[in-house]
Amino acid sequence: MDSSSNGTSPLRIGVVGVGHLGRHHARIASQSTASLVGVFDTNGTRAHEVATTLGVPAFPNLDSLLARCDVAVIATPAASHFAVARSALEADKHCLVEKPLVTDPASAGVLVALARERHRVLAVGHSERFNPALEHADRFIRDPLYVEVTRVAPFPGRGMDVDVVKDLMVHDLEIVLHWMGTYPTEMRAVGIPLVTDKVDMASVRLEFEHGQVAALTASRASPSALRVMRVFQRGGYVSVDLGSKKLRFVRQTPAGLTIEESVADGPEPLKAELEDFLSAVRTGRPPRVSGHEGAQVLRLAEDIVTLIGSRLRHLSTPQ
Ligand code: NAD
Repeated sequence: MDSSSNGTSPLRIGVVGVGHLGRHHARIASQSTASLVGVFDTNGTRAHEVATTLGVPAFPNLDSLLARCDVAVIATPAASHFAVARSALEADKHCLVEKPLVTDPASAGVLVALARERHRVLAVGHSERFNPALEHADRFIRDPLYVEVTRVAPFPGRGMDVDVVKDLMVHDLEIVLHWMGTYPTEMRAVGIPLVTDKVDMASVRLEFEHGQVAALTASRASPSALRVMRVFQRGGYVSVDLGSKKLRFVRQTPAGLTIEESVADGPEPLKAELEDFLSAVRTGRPPRVSGHEGAQVLRLAEDIVTLIGSRLRHLSTPQ
């Protein structure tokens, strides 16, 4: 349990990086059960704009923010997560780091070891795990045999420091690892650079030790956005639209197939994620997505990227 959370004073949150997503983290932190002490962003204009809106200071550098907080929420681009999170952990701050935890498995291992050594909570922002639609579906899912996921979005002009596997598909890889409980035994993957010099579209098939299969597609060069999952298991299946939060359960019953449709309701995923992290800091229990799990999914993403890279090289080699 964190000594600064003994019930007398609220945990103090510092938000690092207040761009597209970080400004939402800062807003949510300002309305949370903890207290937002301020923000830091290398873009000073942006930091001041967000800080002024929320009535907190914009700190001039990372160290001055870290000196004033107990926990850091890190929402900078993925390529900077390692340096920022390492500084925060070395300053004995608990960290919620946006997904992907870092960009390579070795750096993930360093952060996980550092958090353990310093007795700090390291959580990873796989916010889809807090999507009310997924939480609702999760109650039904037992031993999935086949999972099919499509996650496509228009090109955002951000997140280009990583390929689409580590940028978007990483959400679904984490969910699939959570459901399957083991690392895949086989994988096939194809990916194509479309609008950047990195892979922007990927299609992956994972097989697990008892024959379960997950087929995932992700693209960041689609005209429209879609996030859907279908999970098949003995006795029925569920389809989940993570965007509209609509669910359809199809179950085998003695009277035949039943179809039940619903729309999930619940708190904003980033809000639920932050409160889960704060609760982990206060109680010492693990967060829903720990650094260890963030590192595992990164290992899988890296294996997929390597597979795609070798296929691309093979394709571009004249026969
Ligand atoms: P962004 O480019 O809009 O914002 C990043 C901000 O960080 C910018 O304001 C930039 O000036 C600042 N910054 C860069 N380096 C910094 C440093 N070293 N220290 C302090 N500030 C720094 O990017 P974004 O879309 O907000 O993405 C940020 C992170 O959030 C990424 O890791 C991304 O993968 C993740 N993300 C997660 C989700 C989700 O669903 N969980 C959605 C979008 C983005």
